[in-house]
Amino acid sequence: MSPVIALRGVRRTYPGTPPVHALHGVDLLVHRRDYLAIVGPSGSGKSTLLHLLGLLDTPTDGVYELNGADVGALPDVDRTTLRGAEIGFVFQSFHLLPHRTATENVELAMLYNRSPRRDRRTRAREALDRVGLTHRRDALPTTMSGGERQRVAIARALVNRPSLLLCDEPTGNLDTATTATVLDLFAGLHVDGLTIVMITHDLAVARRAGRVAEISDGRLTERAAG
Ligand code: ADP
Ligand code: MG
Repeated sequence: MSPVIALRGVRRTYPGTPPVHALHGVDLLVHRRDYLAIVGPSGSGKSTLLHLLGLLDTPTDGVYELNGADVGALPDVDRTTLRGAEIGFVFQSFHLLPHRTATENVELAMLYNRSPRRDRRTRAREALDRVGLTHRRDALPTTMSGGERQRVAIARALVNRPSLLLCDEPTGNLDTATTATVLDLFAGLHVDGLTIVMITHDLAVARRAGRVAEISDGRLTERAAG
């Protein structure tokens, strides 16, 4: 079976005088059911790499295969479709609509997949059940704690059954106790078969993943297991 992610010699250079070489020849394989954390300091290329992996940006050079398909030369419209079908995103700052309930926020992720409204509601509720928010499904984000908001965002990321969950500093706005709850949730999703790539600058968070890679000045090195 193809890896979920295969990067070979991926570079990303931002134009300018001088140009910024944000990624220098990154090689990476992520298989189904891997849980990979990528750690690195500010400015090391983490967000650039996550944007490439999430089909929000394209490499300047090198190859990106997602589930065996070369996605480097895809037209924007196909990239957008593929992103919606295959990738769930979780961000540091949740990105929920404040005046929509938890259920409505999750339903919005299914607007483009043409399922009937009643199915969308059922699936949104199932996703909220999975993250332990059954009792908060009619609540507005403005009345929720940070941990609850992040769990709504995780439900939204999961509702289209992505092959890959991409997380950018998912615990960056959470206190220690809430961070543990969210990391326990990721661990459970991983056990259930989800493939997770998480970016963090927090080593304690990274240690919860099965694999840890470090990025520094646009170069990725994986730590030996154990
Ligand atoms: P991190 O997420 O690890 O903080 P980034 O991927 O955001 O790092 O940035 C990596 C490098 O690329 C930094 O030197 C940053 O200044 C530069 N960079 C990021 N985005 C852009 C951009 N749109 N244009 C020019 N330079 C950028
Ligand atoms: Mg960043």
